[in-house]
Amino acid sequence: MSTNNPRITVIGTGYLGATHAVCMALLGFDVLGVDVDSSKIDLLQSGRVPFFEPGLPEKLAEALDSGRLRFSTDLDEAAAFGDVHFICVGTPQARDSAAADLRYVDAAFAGLAERITRKALLVGKSTVPIGTAARLTSLVQTISPLGPELELAWNPEFLREGFAVADTLHPDRLVFGVSSEWAREQLARVFQPIVDEGTPVIVADLATAELVKVAANSFLATKISYINAMAEVCEATGADVSLLATALSLDDRIGGRFLKPGLGFGGGCLPKDIRAFRHRAEELGIGQAVSFLGEVDSINIRRRVRTVDLVRELAGGDLSGVRVAALGAAFKPNSDDVRDAPALDVARMLYLEGASVSVYDPQANANAHRVFPDLNYADSLSESVRDADVVVLLTEWQEFRDADPDELGALVRYRRIVDGRHALDADDYRLKGWEYRALGRPAQS
Ligand code: NAD
Repeated sequence: MSTNNPRITVIGTGYLGATHAVCMALLGFDVLGVDVDSSKIDLLQSGRVPFFEPGLPEKLAEALDSGRLRFSTDLDEAAAFGDVHFICVGTPQARDSAAADLRYVDAAFAGLAERITRKALLVGKSTVPIGTAARLTSLVQTISPLGPELELAWNPEFLREGFAVADTLHPDRLVFGVSSEWAREQLARVFQPIVDEGTPVIVADLATAELVKVAANSFLATKISYINAMAEVCEATGADVSLLATALSLDDRIGGRFLKPGLGFGGGCLPKDIRAFRHRAEELGIGQAVSFLGEVDSINIRRRVRTVDLVRELAGGDLSGVRVAALGAAFKPNSDDVRDAPALDVARMLYLEGASVSVYDPQANANAHRVFPDLNYADSLSESVRDADVVVLLTEWQEFRDADPDELGALVRYRRIVDGRHALDADDYRLKGWEYRALGRPAQS
């Protein structure tokens, strides 16, 4: 790559930022990753990824070895170093409302704006409510000694945890939200290796770029809740949502992705993004346009309650003193992320009804323990299910799919299982003497 490549900083090195920093270095850029959390920075600088993401540790080592990647907590250093600054800080749900908490984004943009003394591009990657980029543009241009010379762009990120490296290097599309040709050119230079692979680029205004991300997540959440609403209909009628989903998915116009019935969505993105979207639409006076997202959210939460109902039913109607093996804590497999995790929520509800809950997740036990220390955490699948009265599968890790029903059966007290993710072979479990229940499926189907 040419020596006059833009130098890149990545502000916020969590799931999104750490992956982005590593991938930018692998693409040949000099990259500085910055975070306010010094323990995270120390780990990354020493070659350790502070969270579980398959493939990222190897890529981090490669990037550090190349000499093109380093990490710091020093924003002054970032301001002096970078030509293009990617802001990847968190935008969690506010504590007291459905809105996104934008204080980290504001602090990162303002902090850079105060310090940058030569022309540079600030690029937001975090997921934000529509209008944030316009507000930040006037904020940074007011603060900055450069005034309007300091430009802002929005480049939403679509990576999935569990596939973060591949999604960053080979995305389905790139969205460049810009307000000048110069800003578009800077983004085109940075993403040139990815564009050269044939990746489609959508060049848009700032508001559309922000909206692409929240609209995409809202669509995915709606598709999941749609099939889970059908599961509720199945529960009331004796129909089987598993067969229904298969039949629907064979229609090309519908497709099978995100049409899997079960315990529903969670994590650090979908739930807070649909709530923030509704909140923002209400602020804009167009709440009705996306009011259906409230129902999407409610359907999703009801699945958690229904899962607890199934465990209680299998336990004979009362959970107090019942030993439940809870398989999974992460919001999805191949991640250790427990933010708004349906699995952990179900485990918590079971515990609050008096069950003795033994949680096992192949990667997320430590994070789960931090947010909910009162549960018991097992070191292995077999330790979790030993002497269980009911087993409930909450996160569809491959290890759980691969488990042998007879081997598990030899460990439990009663062969009773709730498959919260439609991940197991119901016939096989029933054949091996298990009472098998799944959301949206008749007890004996
Ligand atoms: P995260 O919590 O893992 O990481 C955020 C990081 O920002 C933390 O390490 C935090 O210490 C740091 N930070 C906060 N304030 C800072 C500041 N002023 N300066 C420097 N660092 C600061 O969050 P995440 O999952 O990486 O998500 C980040 C953003 O990306 C969110 O808006 C999220 O919605 C979006 N996003 C996430 C994913 C995903 O799969 N995790 C995918 C697409 C988009």
